[in-house]
Amino acid sequence: MSKLAFKQSGISEKPQPGDANDRIKIIIADDEQEVHTVTRFVLKDYLYQGKKLEFLSAYSGEEAKQLLKDHPDASLILLDIVMEKDDAGLDVAEFIRENLHNKFIRIILRTGQPGTAPEEEVIAKYDVNDYKEKTELTSRKFKTAMTMALRSYADILTIDAFRMVLEQEVLARTAELQQKNLELERLNKELEYHASRDALTGAHNRMKFDSVLEAEINRCGRYDRAMALAMLDIDYFKAINDRHGHAAGDSVLREFVALITAHIRECDVFARWGGEEFMILFPEATLEETRVVTEKLREKIESHTFETIGNITCSFGVTQLLRDDGIQSLNKRVDDALYEAKRDGRNKVICK
Ligand code: GH3
Ligand code: MG
Ligand code: MG
Repeated sequence: MSKLAFKQSGISEKPQPGDANDRIKIIIADDEQEVHTVTRFVLKDYLYQGKKLEFLSAYSGEEAKQLLKDHPDASLILLDIVMEKDDAGLDVAEFIRENLHNKFIRIILRTGQPGTAPEEEVIAKYDVNDYKEKTELTSRKFKTAMTMALRSYADILTIDAFRMVLEQEVLARTAELQQKNLELERLNKELEYHASRDALTGAHNRMKFDSVLEAEINRCGRYDRAMALAMLDIDYFKAINDRHGHAAGDSVLREFVALITAHIRECDVFARWGGEEFMILFPEATLEETRVVTEKLREKIESHTFETIGNITCSFGVTQLLRDDGIQSLNKRVDDALYEAKRDGRNKVICK
């Protein structure tokens, strides 16, 4: 324990662990020269754990405050109560704890006037170690009080050092935990992304689309908003696979999704419904507006040259949300519209 105590340092406000050669700084604050002389004499051979004392003298409360500021590593102050004021010593004690925030230095109050003993609450408030009358200056009891005060100073330093280590540990753990939380958040987002996307094309998957569609139907019903739906099916896709191979078919699906995504709004929800069938949900769109938009999409697809396979076409069924529609009735209508587009020769938009 003693290893951690008593370093001479003017740099840090806080006492630091020191080596065995350090002296223990004691401040004597008293307005009587004789008290200084006697104290130094009585304690001249005093050793605490093999270490000598170094005395610093102040003759008033104000001088004591200055010494305390200059020597934040002082271990103990022997503090006269009555100096330039009746309560100069108590003033210094308050200064130590509340202005300097020095919770380390030990305080032994001393008075020459019996009957000026400080209140219990002063002793507790300023963490005063002991209270002695100056008549006890040379007694054994005084040295015992010194030893106990210095021991408690060493203990306080040790406890504080442990506290700091623990605090650092807690900070490090907190930072680690925050890092892990961020990572978890990122992984959750990634997981959420993959759970809602089609692996081949990156379009939303059917599960995600169903939940968005259901929510949108509810929202439109509640706020009387418009919403339209398009079902897309690539024409003669089987023939593409048969002619160019499955890998080429896959690459057409990816290119198809990129093309559509580039030509719809951010708020439109585009999903792979299965195979070469897709759905687009157009929030806040009427049937007429959607007819125009999907017709443009049909033209974009028709005029796009796909890698390795060239041109393809796509059929569209389009409908809008009607009063009393549910997922099933809406899906049936859009499916019927698509069927009609196929039956009518493909590469068409049919609105129902
Ligand atoms: P239609 O114009 O009537 O829609 O004819 P189609 O050939 O496009 O339709 P059909 O339903 O007969 O064939 C769809 C084909 O899509 C069959 C299937 O092998 C293929 N397909 C489905 N999913 C994938 C996929 O992920 N990759 C590839 N390469 N082909 C797929
Ligand atoms: Mg098809
Ligand atoms: Mg199909």
